[in-house]
Amino acid sequence: MNPLVDVHAHLELIDDCADAIRRAEQAGVVSVIANGMDTSSNRQVLGFSNKFKIVKPAIGLYPADAVTLSDEEINRELGFIRSKENEIIALGEIGLEGKRLEEGMQQRAKGIFVKLLRLAIEIRKPVIVHSRGLEAECISLLEEMKAKRVVLHCFCGGIELARKAERLGFMLSIPCSISRDKYFQSLAREISLSHLLTETDSPFLGPKSGMKSEPAMVKRTIERIAELKGMEEGEVANNIYANYGRVFENGKSNNP
Ligand SMILES: [Zn+2]
Repeated sequence: MNPLVDVHAHLELIDDCADAIRRAEQAGVVSVIANGMDTSSNRQVLGFSNKFKIVKPAIGLYPADAVTLSDEEINRELGFIRSKENEIIALGEIGLEGKRLEEGMQQRAKGIFVKLLRLAIEIRKPVIVHSRGLEAECISLLEEMKAKRVVLHCFCGGIELARKAERLGFMLSIPCSISRDKYFQSLAREISLSHLLTETDSPFLGPKSGMKSEPAMVKRTIERIAELKGMEEGEVANNIYANYGRVFENGKSNNP
C-alpha cells in the first residue's frame, strides 16, 4: 500500500474521530496533520496526537478567530505554542482572511499572522497557511519574511499566483473537492508534482457537494491527480509522500 498523507484536517469537528482514523489507516494514510484554530482546538489537537499514532499536531490561530482575542490572550497563546515546540510538527492553521473580515480586522489579523510567522521561523517549524481572499498579500508577506517551509492550504488565488508560490518553493495542498472543482483540477495539472500535497480540511470540502470529508479520502485525491497528470497512482503517492517528508520531517534543521 502506498503511504498517504493528509496535511490539513480539523479532527475536533469530526463526529466519529476514532472511526475516521481507523478508516484512514486502512486506506494507507500514515500521517494526518490535525490543525488547531484557537485556544481550545489547539489543546484538543495535542490530545488527538497522544491518542492516535498517525495524528501529528499543528497548532495556531485561525485569522477570523484570532482577531476576537485581546493582545494579552494572543501573547499567552504564542507562549503556549512555544512551550509545545518539541511536540508540534508545524504552526497551523494561521494566515490571512479577506472574505469573512472587514478591512480593519484584516489588518489586525495580519499583525497576528506576522507574530506567528516570526515564532515559526524562530522555532524552525513549517507553516500551514490559510489565505482566502488575500492570496497575493499572503504570498508577498511570506516572501518578505523569507518563510521557506510553507504549505498553502486550499489555495484559491488562481494559477498565476500558484505558479509564483511554486517558484518561491511553497507547497500547495489539494483538497478532495478536486473531484468536482475544475479550479483544483487545473492546479493539480499545472503545478509540478514536486510542489503538491494532499489534504482534506475535514470535515469540509468533501468530494461531493454537501458531503463531509475525512482523512481516508486523500486516496481519491491521489487517484484524481494521477489521472490529470497521466501518471501511475503509486508514483503520485510516493512523490507526495516525499514532498511531505521534505517539508515536515527532514527539513527540521532549516528555517521554515
Ligand atoms: Zn482549515
